[in-house]
Amino acid sequence: SFFGGIGGASRKGILVKGSNYLEALAKTEIVVFDKTGTLTKGVFRVQEIHSEGYSEEELLELTAYTESYSNHPISLSLKSAYGKEIDNSRITDIEEISGHGIIAVVDEKKVVAGNSKLMLKMNIPYYEGELIGTVVHVAIDNQYAGYIIIADELKSDSTQAIKALKAAGIKQTVMLTGDTKNVASKVGETLGLDKVYSDLLPGDKVDKLEELFAQKPANNKLAFVGDGINDAPVLARADIGIAMGALGSDAAIEAADIVIMTDEPSKIATAIKISRKTLKIAQ
Ligand code: ADP
Ligand code: MG
Repeated sequence: SFFGGIGGASRKGILVKGSNYLEALAKTEIVVFDKTGTLTKGVFRVQEIHSEGYSEEELLELTAYTESYSNHPISLSLKSAYGKEIDNSRITDIEEISGHGIIAVVDEKKVVAGNSKLMLKMNIPYYEGELIGTVVHVAIDNQYAGYIIIADELKSDSTQAIKALKAAGIKQTVMLTGDTKNVASKVGETLGLDKVYSDLLPGDKVDKLEELFAQKPANNKLAFVGDGINDAPVLARADIGIAMGALGSDAAIEAADIVIMTDEPSKIATAIKISRKTLKIAQ
């Protein structure tokens, strides 16, 4: 009947890598989500460009060049907002700092593009007023050059995904994100998540998971759902690591115990229901 359960799941686009994960899934009481690319589409659109000392076009161009080697959802959207071909010969040094942003040399200018943590790290004073959205601050040759505000959208299926988990009796739904508090709390309120943790570095996400582990009975399981960009260690640490496979990276599919082949987080509740049914039959 475990084979039946795994087969039934796979027909719904849910790939379970072993019957032990089906068993663990049936005992899940906490489901933890990554935000970008998991609950949100991971496709950011530019909302506003505020440049200082450069034109908006120059700022976007230098930022897109700086981000051009990365596959981070933020990088992809800045490249697409720029919209023109990237001439790789203009870029010489690239350093991606996970959870922070990217530093590169473009046209012999040192460009730093990322969040406020990156500006602090590089000792660059930045605009600290309240901004709504995900903010990419930019510095050129150690001078602050402005910011680009980008915004992501919720997946249309995410509200249903959280509702279905609650209806299935899941005790806690949690979101972890490296994004800012204002973006995270808006997503949390809209979806009705029980807990939201923001401004987390990739390593902080593992620490948060440990905290959640410490608070729950050992017999009840914790599932983490991510897309693998910066969250492979969390996927590996969870009792059940679930990767969203449609957008997810190869690393995520590798690190995960369960892969959702479609782009629908509501499949998590479906998988839990299948696992409970399978276990009942097996007992
Ligand atoms: P999430 O937890 O939402 O999946 P990440 O851990 O990948 O996000 O990134 C956290 C934050 O770090 C982002 O919200 C952004 O502010 C910053 N950041 C990460 N990568 C980049 C990048 N390539 N360019 C600009 N900013 C970035
Ligand atoms: Mg991520």
